[in-house]
Amino acid sequence: MYDLIVIGAGPGGYVCAIRAAQLGLKVACVEGRETLGGTCLNVGCIPSKALLHASHMLHESHENFDKMGLTGAKVKVDWTKMQGYKAETVNTNTKGIEFLFKKNKIDWLKGWAEIEGAGKVKVGDEVHETKNIVIATGSEPAALKGVEVDNAGGVIVDSTGALMLPKIPKSMVVIGAGVIGLELGSVYARLGAEVTVIEYLDAITPGMDADIQKQFQKTLQKQGFKFIMGAAVQSAETKKGKATVTYAPKKGGDAETVEADCVLVSTGRRPYLDGLGLDKAGVELTDRGMVKIDKHWATNVKGIYAIGDCVPGPMLAHKAEDEGMAAAEVIAGKAGHVNYDVIPGVIYTNPEVANVGLTEAAAKETGRKIKVGKFPFMGNARAKAMFMGDGFVKIIADAETDRVLGAHIIGPNAGEMIHEICVAMEFGASAEDIALTCHAHPTTSEAVREAALALGDGAIHV
Ligand code: FAD
Repeated sequence: MYDLIVIGAGPGGYVCAIRAAQLGLKVACVEGRETLGGTCLNVGCIPSKALLHASHMLHESHENFDKMGLTGAKVKVDWTKMQGYKAETVNTNTKGIEFLFKKNKIDWLKGWAEIEGAGKVKVGDEVHETKNIVIATGSEPAALKGVEVDNAGGVIVDSTGALMLPKIPKSMVVIGAGVIGLELGSVYARLGAEVTVIEYLDAITPGMDADIQKQFQKTLQKQGFKFIMGAAVQSAETKKGKATVTYAPKKGGDAETVEADCVLVSTGRRPYLDGLGLDKAGVELTDRGMVKIDKHWATNVKGIYAIGDCVPGPMLAHKAEDEGMAAAEVIAGKAGHVNYDVIPGVIYTNPEVANVGLTEAAAKETGRKIKVGKFPFMGNARAKAMFMGDGFVKIIADAETDRVLGAHIIGPNAGEMIHEICVAMEFGASAEDIALTCHAHPTTSEAVREAALALGDGAIHV
């Protein structure tokens, strides 16, 4: 009899299993994939960041090396070798989780799990008994009507297929201007593809601060991206290794087509709950097909919890990890906690885009008086030395209390810098607290301090 069986070994599930084992519980984790780590390590965060890193290095060598007096033969792409580097990066990380499972004495039950009812998890022919179950089965790419994905064919693909294309396409259509589409679109744009993004809405990266949306689109356009905004894709068809995408303008008018070597469908993700037997176990779902949970990650069935991409909230690895730790703590009789107001989001393009807390529009909607401090990277010496003067830091604070409500950064190292604001928000800091904190020079983080200074008596370097 286990104390806990976790279903799914993605960042939610494996972190939950490790924390529960650290707290003294007898734990097993079921994973149907050949390797641990879930979407994130196998076909998500990690392989995409490996390709983003490699393609960024290529871009730097072509665009900026000469400017710094680094000359020599032009760097070329060996796609097979780059894929090998990506696979090795994934492999070392998934093996790392295997090591952590052994270290923490967690049993990996290999296979696909079915919940037979509270306390009973079937894997293959065997039924395992447990006091608690955590569902951490993650998500999968959402389908788009009229567009059939064939990852093996390499022409119309989803994010999984886009990570392992047989060759670098000369042209690519990305359907959906969200995080995954723009990151993977960036990879192929830097590797030489002409990238066209078709988006239904009128702004890219839905839900982000409007100033960031505008600046980010401008930056990507400078990098060669084309955008077709306010257009609904109706179909995509493959013929002789090429695809034709048909779309209709939202405001009316004739349908139009665009041709490409590759089409990436990145219109969102949906919870993955196939074959889990939730019906039989009586676990309730939300209207959007996610597992319904309370504030303590408990479902309506006693002893069954759920975390990560299969429950409501942002589909992010670190959100899943936080929920994994907190749920393990609740099961072990402690007080698990996740602060959903302070979950950062990062887009790992170049420049990076990062955000935490409220956008300016959302802050205004709360009805409170707000103030906005902005600082451009053009005034930051370190950023300029890296040819990264485009972009800015924007901090939103309560006008009466000076408390930081949110921050939005587009610029170098944005994904690292955002954590200073996260810590500030966790501690209920004011913008002045950040402004009065000495920041090392020359760092890009000085731009965060300057944006905080802009909320008081003024930034220095503008
Ligand atoms: P998952 O990682 O999806 O893991 C669920 C696991 O459960 C899977 O391994 C699956 O095989 C297993 N499983 C499912 N059903 C069963 C069953 N019945 N029995 C046994 N096993 C089962 N997030 C970020 O925060 N940062 C990023 O940079 C980032 N980049 C991404 C890039 C791409 C291309 C994609 C697709 C996603 C990216 N994400 C990123 C999102 C991130 O991958 C997910 O939010 C995260 O993996 C969710 O974790 P999870 O544990 O909930 O589920």
